[in-house]
Amino acid sequence: MAGYSFDMESYMTRESFAKVKEFAATKETPFLVTSLGVVARKYDELRKFMPYARVYYAIKANPSEDVLRLLAARGSCFDIASVYELDLVLRLGIPPDRLSLGNTIKKARDIQYAYERGVRLFATDAESDVRKLARNAPGSDVFFRILTNGLGADWPLSRKFGARPSVIFQNILLAKELGLNPRGVSFHVGSQQHDITQWRAALATCKELFDAAKERGVVLDLVNMGGGFPAHYLSPVEKTSVYADAVTGYLHEFFGPELPRVVIEPGRYMAGDAGVLVTEVVMISNKEGEGSASWLYLDVGKFNGLIETLDESIKYPIYSERTGEARDYIIAGPTCDSLDILYEKTSCRLPANLEEGDRLYFLTTGAYTRTYSSIFFNGFPPLESYVIE
Ligand SMILES: *Cc1c(COP(=O)(O)O)cnc(C)c1O
Repeated sequence: MAGYSFDMESYMTRESFAKVKEFAATKETPFLVTSLGVVARKYDELRKFMPYARVYYAIKANPSEDVLRLLAARGSCFDIASVYELDLVLRLGIPPDRLSLGNTIKKARDIQYAYERGVRLFATDAESDVRKLARNAPGSDVFFRILTNGLGADWPLSRKFGARPSVIFQNILLAKELGLNPRGVSFHVGSQQHDITQWRAALATCKELFDAAKERGVVLDLVNMGGGFPAHYLSPVEKTSVYADAVTGYLHEFFGPELPRVVIEPGRYMAGDAGVLVTEVVMISNKEGEGSASWLYLDVGKFNGLIETLDESIKYPIYSERTGEARDYIIAGPTCDSLDILYEKTSCRLPANLEEGDRLYFLTTGAYTRTYSSIFFNGFPPLESYVIE
């Protein structure tokens, strides 16, 4: 049997990880550590490869105030989903002209609340929402979200959001009629998207809508390509430059040399690689006898940070300081719910000599972990979170 080996460098630099480990040494598990340096590198990398695109960071991935401050200082805009995220960014002094209310599902009074505080850019995908926007955010810029199928994505966002192009077209005309300012079209190809051609299919639809609207006298000038750029989990992904070059090529293919205003809303890409979730082995049980995988119970599970292991969709790299022989484990969380199993179909190779009390480090946990953590299930508190330089 092969020994336990782990290629840290494919997920995080040794230097960044050493800093995390040093910081983590005195803290009680479980907790998340987010490295600002990594977030900064990700932002700069995206700006370098797509200098024409305006970045609206999707706050829900990791709303740590230090992360938001860092991105704001670098010039980022922000995609917010609720009045609560709105209050958060305004409290940090981020001006409302840097915000986009990207959630298509909103109460009329929440639209009004955002409008009163200066938000003038909204996503929509339904006639009812267009009417609510016209009444509560008159004259605002709106963009219209088209359906995508989410194929190729590890965490698809299909079906629930967006509408068919024919429906969107009617909504564009209605928005104009009601005094809103139809600006453009948006989509989200699904989170952790492996198939880069999904952007091409969506951009083709955007261009069709641009042309159809123009024939009716509505000139659109904004394409919002949402999220979908990947973080580094166990399944390998292409480099950022490969994604950026392909997407840039598709944009020019459909829109020619003069691009419309382009918006991207990275969440997972921006924060994922920056996080390390530190957990402790609570119990190891060889409950099915010799020859079968042992169960490894941790102090973190689906209810305090790792919900994206649902259907084993997201496969986090797990680091242990122990070396030597490896063996298969089934990994589960600490709560009294049988849903709280992280990996069972996907066997996890970890050191055979793991012991209770050992620490494990889940890498690439900077996005969609703390925000998904429940507040009190079985009395377990929400995942603690720290930010370091
Ligand atoms: C969640 C979300 C994003 C971020 O998606 P990632 O795949 O995490 O980058 C972007 N835009 C909208 C509208 C979203 O809901």
